[in-house]
Amino acid sequence: MPRAEHAISREDISDNALKVMYRLNNAGFSAYLVGGCVRDLMLGHKPKDFDVVTNATPEQIKGLFRNCRLIGRRFRLAHIVFGREIIEVATFRGHHNEDPSVAKQDDEGQLLRDNVFGTIEEDAERRDFTFNAMYYDVATFSVTDFANGINAIKRGEVDLIGDPEVRYREDPVRMLRAVRFAAKLDMTINPRTAKPIKELAHLLSNIPPARLFEEMLKLFLSGHGLQTFRLLREYNLLEPLFPMLGKVFAAPDSKEIGLIELVLKNTDERINTGQRVTPAFLIATLLWYPVEEHATKLQSEAGLNGHDAFNIAMGDILHRQSQRIMIPKRFSTVVRDIWHLQQRLPRRFGRRAFQLLSHPKFRAAYDFLLARGRTEGGDLLELADWWTQFQDASPANQKKMLNTLRQEEGREPRKRRRPRKPKSDSHAQ
Ligand code: ATP
Ligand code: MG
Repeated sequence: MPRAEHAISREDISDNALKVMYRLNNAGFSAYLVGGCVRDLMLGHKPKDFDVVTNATPEQIKGLFRNCRLIGRRFRLAHIVFGREIIEVATFRGHHNEDPSVAKQDDEGQLLRDNVFGTIEEDAERRDFTFNAMYYDVATFSVTDFANGINAIKRGEVDLIGDPEVRYREDPVRMLRAVRFAAKLDMTINPRTAKPIKELAHLLSNIPPARLFEEMLKLFLSGHGLQTFRLLREYNLLEPLFPMLGKVFAAPDSKEIGLIELVLKNTDERINTGQRVTPAFLIATLLWYPVEEHATKLQSEAGLNGHDAFNIAMGDILHRQSQRIMIPKRFSTVVRDIWHLQQRLPRRFGRRAFQLLSHPKFRAAYDFLLARGRTEGGDLLELADWWTQFQDASPANQKKMLNTLRQEEGREPRKRRRPRKPKSDSHAQ
């Protein structure tokens, strides 16, 4: 497609990406924009980032840019760093089947290693969807569309390059990507691309947990989480990601689904209005009912008290989930905080209410309580509403609220205080 036949203008391309391509061109290499950025520009969207491909090898790229870092084990890539913007530059990838020493597949057909350089045609064939295999050449301002991606864009279809079953077996994450693009680009997955998904969904259990963590962030924290969740559920792709919730996803809508969908809807709104989100909140949401259930079971079966049962349940559930999707420590600590505070928020007497307000994770825990309240109604919603009022009340009104609480609850038998621990203990650490 020469310049006159497509809508991509240099104005829409990052200056740094242009610089990188010009320098590669001047050194005698070819250089193209490819993938998501070309697709998004063709759709009239603003690209998230700009990826470049070239026939220069990583070492040759490094020789041209001082601000270059080589990364990646599965496939070596160059990152050209311009302050906060990173332009990713990859060497054309080739076919893998011919030489078994550089490409390895497991019994399910999954690619384990593929470090082969190739031509632009080969590079295009190895890409996932037809709309992701369009190349923009800054030397001629033309777009080369190897797999008829333009047609997919016109039809609003997610269409895999090649035989879908083979391509999913090579890399099961492509099933997640199909759904992600359908939700994000508001497209449908065409029938041939959709057909094998349900049958091959289980292959996701072979993907390393660290990669699935990255994918999970893209699925749920890119502003289209709710729609992505619904599509993943429709294609039976949730069970292999969250095995503990398998039954919940397969059954008709329940309070579990209600809570997850409510939180995803709020998350999308926050992202689309530029507010911060944390993966911890989402993980806390997804695994909340499994924790509650497991804690109840531990109480009745192992005879543990509520407090201990809940603590053990939190650890067990996080551990089980992280067998499938990695949960980095910096997030799991926050997940625990959010959960733990759910136990504390009902107990508001005296100074406790103020201590809770000043807890660093109060806000997240309160938001979580509110989501639970809106899902389940009843006492939980009342409790959440109480906290809504209390936070913004004047000191005098806060005092009144606590007094009212004391009077209401005063009719119930008061718990005896636990004996204080000896002072020396608490200072020992
Ligand atoms: P986004 O805008 O969400 O980043 P993207 O298409 O740029 O979408 P990336 O994950 O950044 O997605 O990948 C960049 C490009 O690399 C894709 O457009 C595609 O051509 C190729 N690609 C990425 N992952 C795969 C995969 N698993 N199999 C084949 N090709 C892939
Ligand atoms: Mg991208």
